[in-house]
Amino acid sequence: MITAPAQSVISDQCSVVGAPVLPDPGPRTPDPNPQPGRVASRSPFDPWRDSTAGRFVDLELWGEHRHVYANANLSIYSGQACNGGCGFCVEKLRPAARGVELASQKTVEADDARYFSALDEVLDALRPLGPSVSLTGGEPSLDSRLPRLLRTLQDRGMRKRTMTTNGSGLLDVREGRTVVDWVTATGVRHLNLSRALPADADNARLMQLDRAPDRAALAEIVARAVRGGTRPRLSCVLLRDGIADLDGVLEYLANAESLGVDNVVFRQLMTTEKRGPGSGVRGPAPTHPAADDHRPLRSQTEEVVGYSDAQRVLLRPLLAQLRGRRDFSLQTRVRGYYYEVEVWRWRGIDVVLEEASLAWLAASRQLWPELVFELVFHPSAVLCSTWQPWDGMLGPPPTHRGVRGPGSGVRLGGEAADMQSTTTGRPGGLDNARGSR
Ligand code: SF4
Repeated sequence: MITAPAQSVISDQCSVVGAPVLPDPGPRTPDPNPQPGRVASRSPFDPWRDSTAGRFVDLELWGEHRHVYANANLSIYSGQACNGGCGFCVEKLRPAARGVELASQKTVEADDARYFSALDEVLDALRPLGPSVSLTGGEPSLDSRLPRLLRTLQDRGMRKRTMTTNGSGLLDVREGRTVVDWVTATGVRHLNLSRALPADADNARLMQLDRAPDRAALAEIVARAVRGGTRPRLSCVLLRDGIADLDGVLEYLANAESLGVDNVVFRQLMTTEKRGPGSGVRGPAPTHPAADDHRPLRSQTEEVVGYSDAQRVLLRPLLAQLRGRRDFSLQTRVRGYYYEVEVWRWRGIDVVLEEASLAWLAASRQLWPELVFELVFHPSAVLCSTWQPWDGMLGPPPTHRGVRGPGSGVRLGGEAADMQSTTTGRPGGLDNARGSR
């Protein structure tokens, strides 16, 4: 629970000016497609009734008033490129759903001083919110900045820290200790290990990983994490060519049990945005301002969307099967603004089953454009309310990072101009993005 003081000035740029800020919208719209035993999924997400916090905090961020979900998570998105090649890669799928190829939107602030200065500023700005923090990628275990990032988050007392990784670099030694030991020593609570299949060779093939941890390495990582007080979790995407049915789920869980892991998540591949009658999403899709300039790359965006559509295994039939089994017991359900989660228990293992949809995300953002549901600190050292560094930019403005115009040496290109527009309210930045939703 976040209790925000009425008038607590945090810095020159960021202050709490009151919370909660928005009125309750009234009775919830009935689900047009009710499904017995299942949280409503097609009704519009209601931030006040469906969310765990049910309220928003009014923050002033770099001169702009923002209504931020009280349980919003801050994702720190590593600039380290992933060494994997999953056909379903979510890092590629998110921009693809907006018509952009990943490489054309991902820029990295290469200067450590500038990067960490911007991060400090963001953590200061968000202090009244006290968000949980996720480190993700890219591939954070291979990121040379990781130890410093972890120390920074620990020193700042950031709560409920999680890291998600394919595990490749966790046993590498960096600054005197293994990466997994850095994770535990800095008090990370959860370590999510992406693993498509139990068998080493099958997993490496499916994720196209050159150095995925084999079973022995995975066992060592799990043992070190548990010993250090971090809870490891195996994360599995349901795929036709991978874990595709209940037998596969049971095999995966048995493998987790044998490794000493007591927490597993199975994810349905995200559906992408579909527009038109019945979709809940109206109007033209907001795309990267330069999407038309990247037409030759569109085939790559279609590739990841096409793979995901072809490989998607639906969660609901699986959930229906779990309901008929005595060895599975339902613990809880959670609904987020673009995901739904059921938590089950199997032989002492927490089994999380998640369905998420970028179409639901688009619908929620269209319904509630004034609300900030999530916070992403991009590799370009900019905080945004989306996974696109060009949409929903919050700050800090480039001027705060020493960008003084041409020749300043920071590789931010047009983003700097967009950000300036955002903070001044002129067309071209956030205002433009909102207008197009
Ligand atoms: S491990 Fe994750 S980031 Fe890397 S390719 Fe696979 S899905 Fe993408």
